Amino acid sequence: MALKQVSFAKEKVVREFLVPDYYKNFQCKGGNCRDSCCVEWKVTIPMEQYFLLHGLNCKASVKEKIDRAFRPLLNPTKERYAEIVHNYDGDCPLHKKDGYCLLHESCGEEVLPWVCRYYPRGPRIDLADEVSCANSCEKTLELLFENVNKLSFEKKSLTFLINKPKEDIPEDRKLLYIKVRENIFSLLTNRDNPLHLRIIHLGKYLSAMRDNSHINLDEIDFSYILPECNINENHQILWSLFDLFDSKYRRLDEQLIEARSNYLVKDVVEVYNKNKMHLNESIKDNEIYFEKMLINDLFFKQFPFQNNFSVFDQYLALCGTYVLLRYLTLNLMADKTSIDDYIDILAKSFTVISHSEFDKLISSFMKRLEITDLASLSKILQM
Ligand code: SF4
Repeated sequence: MALKQVSFAKEKVVREFLVPDYYKNFQCKGGNCRDSCCVEWKVTIPMEQYFLLHGLNCKASVKEKIDRAFRPLLNPTKERYAEIVHNYDGDCPLHKKDGYCLLHESCGEEVLPWVCRYYPRGPRIDLADEVSCANSCEKTLELLFENVNKLSFEKKSLTFLINKPKEDIPEDRKLLYIKVRENIFSLLTNRDNPLHLRIIHLGKYLSAMRDNSHINLDEIDFSYILPECNINENHQILWSLFDLFDSKYRRLDEQLIEARSNYLVKDVVEVYNKNKMHLNESIKDNEIYFEKMLINDLFFKQFPFQNNFSVFDQYLALCGTYVLLRYLTLNLMADKTSIDDYIDILAKSFTVISHSEFDKLISSFMKRLEITDLASLSKILQM
């Protein structure tokens, strides 16, 4: 029998959380998942959790596996103390063949590391009480792409064990967060415009906010003439940008190498147009899916209020994420047609985008290549 009560620095929080409409239908696919989050993930746990797991009172055969599944990091901190030691095939050693978790099954949910217990859910109680699911989970994308309705949000009473914020956030900042996000979602869901133009409008809104953070959308001049799209030139810019990620993330490397192979000794314009047409024919609502997926991602990461990350840099990261995902889906779908293939490509990319320093890296790369003003951004956003 496992320890009944787990006492971490985290507190039990029972509140009405704002959640996206799909949230109530989320259920882990367990053994039916095509790319399980238990495989290859660099899960780290805090010191208290490490010693709790080592002190568990359970069957000797299970205990031995648990003890070997986690090892202290070389430079541990209290919060990041130990990591999962994956099997030779990259799987978590506690991940059973039937897809279920040995730790969960033997000792109960209350001893699971925080990330294993809640993933793909990301509960927040600082700027607002809200929770959504990460796009890196294929089930999240399946639910998002189930229909073409605009993503909506609702309240749901939920309980989480969570760290309370160290400082109270002033009420006026919380109100601003809600207002700004409403404006952002209203711009991004304006389906009268193509999605790349909506992202440009978002850039105009965020620039206007520099002078007046409370500015209303009807006070902004959104007129904008898109520059002509030169596929060869834009393709070159994208290659230079994605080249900077070389060897940084293995999963992204795999995708970029495969995507690039489409163009080897071939005419870029011809391949690009062919792949674009193929994507539009096989996944006809792909633009709407992108809209929903981006909004879900922005909600998940509390855009544009992320800590230690300027609003401008967050916007660059959004543009960079969009062009990367466009490039990957367009080129990796070239010989595929199913929605599952499409979801697998996106979920795999999001295992990097949502769970690493990717955002900060891509915004710094874009600055290095001077892709920072609306004129240069709007060129690549059209790809
Ligand atoms: S990726 Fe999602 S559906 Fe798959 S095992 Fe993880 S939580 Fe479950």
